Amino acid sequence: MKITRISVFQVDLPLEHPYWLSAGRLKFEVLDATLVKVETDAGITGWGEGTPWGHTYVPAHGPGIRAGIQTMAPFVLGLDPRCVLEVERAMDLALPGHLYTKSPIDMACWDIAGQAAGLPIADLMGGGSRTPRPIASSVGAKTVEETREVMERYRQRGYVAHSVKIGGDVARDIARVRDVESIRRDGEIVLYDVNRGWTRQQALRVMRACEDLNVMFEQPCETLDDIAAISGKHAAPVSVDETLVTLQDAARIARDGLAEIFGIKLNRVGGLTKAARMRDIALAHGIDMFVMATGGSVLADTEALHLAATIPDANCHAVWACQDMLTIDIAGGRGPRNIDGHLHLPEAPGLGVHPEEEALGDPVAVYS
Ligand code: MG
Repeated sequence: MKITRISVFQVDLPLEHPYWLSAGRLKFEVLDATLVKVETDAGITGWGEGTPWGHTYVPAHGPGIRAGIQTMAPFVLGLDPRCVLEVERAMDLALPGHLYTKSPIDMACWDIAGQAAGLPIADLMGGGSRTPRPIASSVGAKTVEETREVMERYRQRGYVAHSVKIGGDVARDIARVRDVESIRRDGEIVLYDVNRGWTRQQALRVMRACEDLNVMFEQPCETLDDIAAISGKHAAPVSVDETLVTLQDAARIARDGLAEIFGIKLNRVGGLTKAARMRDIALAHGIDMFVMATGGSVLADTEALHLAATIPDANCHAVWACQDMLTIDIAGGRGPRNIDGHLHLPEAPGLGVHPEEEALGDPVAVYS
C-alpha cells in the first residue's frame, strides 16, 4: 500500500467562550485547525488533525503545521502508511524538530493502518481498554466567582474531572485553590494548572500555602530547570505538560523524579507514535498520565482517547474533549461524545470518526 495523495484543509474553530490562561495574560477565541486527508492506492483514506492552542500557548501554530507538511509531503508520498515508523523517520529526516507539524500525518497513517487491519487504533497499538475515560474540563477563569461559575457549567454536563487554570497572582491563586477545594465533591479529580505562570518563588509560596490540601499542580514554572530547582522544597505532586515535548524530556523528568504525572498532548509531542514511547517511560517509572489533544475537533479528541485506552485504567487519570468548547462541529455529531462526563472508545476500525468533507471547504494544498 502506498500514499498517493495528501490534501490539507484549514478550518477556524471558534471557542464558545473566550478562554484565559495565566490569569488573563493569554486570551484565546478561535483555534486554527489543519485537517489532513491521506489517500492510498488501496482505496483506504485516513484523516489527521493538528490544532495548536492558538499561536501563543507553546511554540506551535496553525500556519506552521501547513508549512511543515509542504516540506515533508514529498518524503512521505509513496510510503506504506501502515509502516508508521518509516513514515515517522521520513518526516524526522525531512524536517528535524517541529514535532507538532508531524502529528496530523502520523494520525492519518494510524487511521489507515487500523482500517487495513480491521481494528480500532488502540487495539492495533496493543489493546485498548473499554473503560470510559473521564473528560477533564478546562476551567479558564480569573476570579474565585468565575471559577465556581465555569466549574458548575461543566458539572451540569456531567464532568467529574477539572483542570483549573491558575497562575499569575499568588494571593488570588491561593484563594482560588482553597475555594475550589471547599466545594470539591467526593470522587472529583481536580488539577491546578499554572501553565508556566509562576516564577520559582511564586510557585513555592503557593505550593507551601496549600500544603495541607495535598493538591496537584501542573506546569508550575516555565522550564524543567525551574521545576527541578523547586523540587524537594515543596510537598505537592507535580504534573508536567508544556515542557514535556521530546522523548529526552520524558527521560529526564522520569530519571530526575521531576513529576508524578505526564500531561501528554498529542499534537505537541508529534503524534501517537512518539507519544506511545512517553507512555512507556511513564509506566516504567510509576508516573501516571493525562492524555489530550492540544486542541481541536472530535478527531483530535478521538486520537487522544485511543492513546488513553492503551494506558492501564489505574494510570490514566483523564482525557480532554476540546469539542465541548467549540461552536462548530466538523463531524456532524459522529465519533466519541461526552456521555455523563466520559468518552467511550469507538469500535470502528481506524480512528473511528471522519469529518464531513463539505464542512471543510476546498483544500488549501494538495500533494500527489
Ligand atoms: Mg496543562
